[in-house]
Amino acid sequence: MRIDIVTLFPELCGSFLHTSILGRAAARGLFEAHCHQIRDYTQNKQRQTDDYPYGGGPGMVLYAQPIADCLRAVQAQCAQQGRAAPHIVFLTAAGAPYREADAKRLAGYDCLTLVCGHYEGIDERVIEAFADEELSIGDYVLTGGELAALVVADSVLRLQPGVLAEAAGYEDESYWDDLLEYPQYTRPEVWEGRAVPPTLLTGDHEKIAAWRAERSRARTRARRPDLYDRWCRTHPLAVPKWKRGEKAQLARTAAQLGQAAAICHAAWQHQRQELCTPEYLAANTPEAFAEALARDRARGWAFYLHTTGDEPDALVGVHRQSGEISRLYVLPQRQGQGIGAKLLAFACKKILADGTVPWLEVPSSNTGAQRLYRRMGFVPTGDAKALDGAPNLPGVPAPALLKYRYSAKE
Ligand code: SAM
Repeated sequence: MRIDIVTLFPELCGSFLHTSILGRAAARGLFEAHCHQIRDYTQNKQRQTDDYPYGGGPGMVLYAQPIADCLRAVQAQCAQQGRAAPHIVFLTAAGAPYREADAKRLAGYDCLTLVCGHYEGIDERVIEAFADEELSIGDYVLTGGELAALVVADSVLRLQPGVLAEAAGYEDESYWDDLLEYPQYTRPEVWEGRAVPPTLLTGDHEKIAAWRAERSRARTRARRPDLYDRWCRTHPLAVPKWKRGEKAQLARTAAQLGQAAAICHAAWQHQRQELCTPEYLAANTPEAFAEALARDRARGWAFYLHTTGDEPDALVGVHRQSGEISRLYVLPQRQGQGIGAKLLAFACKKILADGTVPWLEVPSSNTGAQRLYRRMGFVPTGDAKALDGAPNLPGVPAPALLKYRYSAKE
């Protein structure tokens, strides 16, 4: 790859590109970098590069002509080398936000030219004439485009084959796959009373990979919900296959409704035990759940019992008319085995078959369920309401009931 930087400070850019990892890679011929002085292309005696803005206002604006001539010289050099015409990027505070996905994309060009502004910016006409795109490295203003161009150059060049020792060096890192990286540790095992997480010392590569993947998702969820949402959309959960002896059947008889109520009771108690007062939990008996299920059935709800062998272990409620799904409960001891995902897919299929869009509500405290919903194509609608007014334990904030709507492509 050939990278060119068009700037008023070529020494500054050049020294960065010839230091450390990039410097060694350039010395090994893994890329070619050229930094061009805009001033060398001026046509006035004073070698002036800027002037007052038309219309008045503070600061100075870079002339179009020296930048245009510098870019023409770069284009000619690339052509002389038999290379493709350079992809030209202007670094501007008003450009499109720069992300790792752009780094990957720009790394695919044979020649990349980065143009740095200064003072108040650059005469718009040269941007219109030459820019393939404008990029901003963040929502803040720098004094010049050099740091921005170096950010782009560094993030693009480290993706060039051979620059990093191993491809995994960047494929595991933050943003590569829309997730933030897991925390890293090195020696000693205990530092100032803080121990390295024990899993990392087991030598069990599968366990370590699972721990890292979980930390990476948890960190992204907490720090960058926007990235996590995108990751969920691009990483749909593969619903596990139904095993032999596993089925979902409509709860018709009183006995089946009783089994359904017992599952609701056990899963609900498990879910709410860290939120609600013991008195409130005790008042919600299996009988109270049975009555609620019977009432809901009269209002058009159908409840499906999931059984593995002969044992009922999960439940889902479907309201085909409105598309609502509720009471997706899995017995605590059967959670984490993919039953929730199977039942949710089952309920969605029933509703979609009627041409209705599935939706559901979930307490904001139930982050595990929300993860499952997102990875199964549900997105938050932004609607939230108070959750059933349950008395919470002291210091526990009242969760809200969040609405999710199915939006995956069929
Ligand atoms: N007047 C411009 C504005 O308000 O958008 C800001 C000009 S800034 C002081 C000077 C130069 O720094 C710009 O021409 C651009 O090259 C560079 N620059 C400043 N902030 C940047 C950012 N966030 N991303 C990329 N380049 C930036």
